[in-house]
Amino acid sequence: MPSIRDLYDLQQLDWDIQNREEELADIRARAADDSRRLTAKRQLDALETKLAGLARPRRQAENNIEDIERRIAEIDVRLYDGSVTNPRELEAYQEERANLSGNRGDEEDKLLELMIEADDTQALLDKAREIFERIDGERSRELESLKARHAEVSSELPEFKERRGELVSEQAPMTLAIYEQVRQLRGGQGAALVDRRGLCQGCRLVIPTTELQRVRAGDQVVQCGSCSRILIYA
Ligand SMILES: [Zn+2]
Repeated sequence: MPSIRDLYDLQQLDWDIQNREEELADIRARAADDSRRLTAKRQLDALETKLAGLARPRRQAENNIEDIERRIAEIDVRLYDGSVTNPRELEAYQEERANLSGNRGDEEDKLLELMIEADDTQALLDKAREIFERIDGERSRELESLKARHAEVSSELPEFKERRGELVSEQAPMTLAIYEQVRQLRGGQGAALVDRRGLCQGCRLVIPTTELQRVRAGDQVVQCGSCSRILIYA
């Protein structure tokens, strides 16, 4: 003859199973959430792209400066080797030389700005790499520990479910049907203890004395008038 009281063993086992299933779902969600690592990786990639993008304008400015200097050197040769005697031609060379000097100044300013920007970007990149590597390491360790915990919790479940099968087979089908239905409706709790004062520990309602006596006898299903849980005398 199955006892209503044994239903509470089933309830406790169901909580154990539910807790483990919730923990497994939480582990899976945490394992799937790679957002922190990805954010750090994106920041690192963006800085690498930015730094690489600075190389081309820098080379361009350096080439421009070289070209300008080459042309200035050519002009200087012409100006000082005495081969140019025509005053107009001389003036044109001097004017071109002055323009070139101005352009060189502009290119040098541009180059300096690019070099400063590259240095700043490099510093940010070093920092971003350090942050990414730290997060990446933490994430690898976290995944390992999640994997280990998942395996541990998963390995416990078959035994719990086997035990559940035994407890279920000992209960009357009607009792079990009520228990399962209320459990679905009441957040996983189908049976609740009642203390000596008649307080339902599922919903904190005090049940009438006559009901309490029936619960105490433990030979029939008595449901809480408020939360419908099957009452078990504590
Ligand atoms: Zn209740």
